[in-house]
Amino acid sequence: MSKKKEKNYDVIIVGAGIAGCVLGFHLANAKIKVKVIEKKSRDNLTEDWCDSIEKKAFTFAGIQPPKGEEIRDERDHLAILTPDLQTIIHLGYYDYWIVDRKLFQKRLLSNAEKAGCEFVFETEVVEPMGKGMWVVGVKTKDEIIHNARMIVDCSGRERILGMNIEILDLNLKLNKSDIIEAHRELHKINSKNLHWGEHEIKHDTLYYRYGYHGGFSWLNFEKENELDIGAGVGKSITNKSPKGMVNDFVNSNASIENKKLRGGGDKIVIRRPITLAWYGFMLVGQAACQTIPTTGCGIGSAMIAAKIAAEVIVPAVRRKEVSIDSLWEYQVRFTKERGRYLAAIDILRLGLQKLSEDDTSFLMRKKIVTRTDLENMIHAKFRKITLLRTVFTAFKGIKRIKLMLYIRKLTMQANKIFKHYKRLPKEYNTRKYHEWLLRSMQLFKEIEDLEPNFLGNT
Ligand SMILES: Cc1cc2nc3c(=O)[nH]c(=O)nc-3n(C[C@H](O)[C@H](O)[C@H](O)COP(=O)(O)OP(=O)(O)OC[C@H]3O[C@@H](n4cnc5c(N)ncnc54)[C@H](O)[C@@H]3O)c2cc1C
Repeated sequence: MSKKKEKNYDVIIVGAGIAGCVLGFHLANAKIKVKVIEKKSRDNLTEDWCDSIEKKAFTFAGIQPPKGEEIRDERDHLAILTPDLQTIIHLGYYDYWIVDRKLFQKRLLSNAEKAGCEFVFETEVVEPMGKGMWVVGVKTKDEIIHNARMIVDCSGRERILGMNIEILDLNLKLNKSDIIEAHRELHKINSKNLHWGEHEIKHDTLYYRYGYHGGFSWLNFEKENELDIGAGVGKSITNKSPKGMVNDFVNSNASIENKKLRGGGDKIVIRRPITLAWYGFMLVGQAACQTIPTTGCGIGSAMIAAKIAAEVIVPAVRRKEVSIDSLWEYQVRFTKERGRYLAAIDILRLGLQKLSEDDTSFLMRKKIVTRTDLENMIHAKFRKITLLRTVFTAFKGIKRIKLMLYIRKLTMQANKIFKHYKRLPKEYNTRKYHEWLLRSMQLFKEIEDLEPNFLGNT
């Protein structure tokens, strides 16, 4: 077996997805010597579909907004349907672009290369290389060791490095409830008259059926006569295949052509973030579990995290000081910008996912989960007061008292976790961070163990 050593990169990134390319671009722009190792081929790098991406992520991450062919559509309207399809809630705004993922990924890659970031394709990383507390390199499948001052895991849901580092929660084994399986397909439509239940599907609105099979399904017109049909299902809730659900919808609508134009699917990690930094090491994007738990949208978070990570890595590498003390700022800044919202939303997601579809429909029909709550969950925000206040008001006239108590407990716990995340140690201290992490786990465990029919001992 040949073992070749190489040590002339400041940073090695594993994975040339959204997180890897945005990070590589910013690091190379700052004249940091960076190499990205990607297991797929350059031509087969990304998914063949269109994604909803938060507009604010482009501004935050310093990435030009999409234009021309890259924008499949811009949606102002989002409508949420209850699982039973009886009720529809129109949301005031939907701050996302519908972006062609292949073209967007191509642009990110090209920007990074132009800035000086190097890419190696068709090379699979199998494990991190460590020295004492430090992560100092990676080993690829061909037994080659690549060393650098810093290593960043951007390998998406595979978390290939994190999974192999037995420190804190980096190698956390995911529960079934932390994962949804999603599938989407684009089909031609030969009639303008399409319905979901009783509801007419309009061209200017994205439709989202929330709480169906522990996940969500969606319909969205792209261009004039193409329909994006998608489903995500909770792995802990159902064995139903999202691909089967999409196919069933296609087959039951005469106006949808059978042939798929584009599409595909994968699992998505939908839990709150894990620890983001260690000695000479960071995780960014889905590898760090930064996806919005209620929607499975992770591109915006990956872009935001990559920008913050770059701003922390650049001075640390220049100072040649990449210990956890320097890199902790990434944990603190991401948690403040997004992580604490993701954690609070994750409490709500975990709790709501346990409800029957009938209870979920009821909560939305009775406006206990309000329009604003739904908007916040979709835009990665958390405002405790809306949901709570409604629950107390609703107590007066509504019969499902156990359900109300359960929702009250969920909102209180979400608020507790939000406050707890505000108390994340501002500087790394092993004892203090351990205590903080254990308390977080405890708060989540309380919700994981809570049954919807508990009797409200808050
Ligand atoms: C059906 C579906 C629909 C979705 N829709 C949306 C949406 O509308 N909006 C949204 O925001 N998000 C959406 N997502 C989620 C989104 O795809 C992810 O959040 C996003 O891709 C995360 O980016 P990332 O860079 O962290 O990871 P990825 O994009 O997964 O990139 C990881 C990269 O690492 C590479 N890699 C993995 N292991 C190794 C290894 N061992 N060695 C070398 N390279 C490796 C992979 O090949 C990949 O290129 C959807 C996901 C699915 C499955």
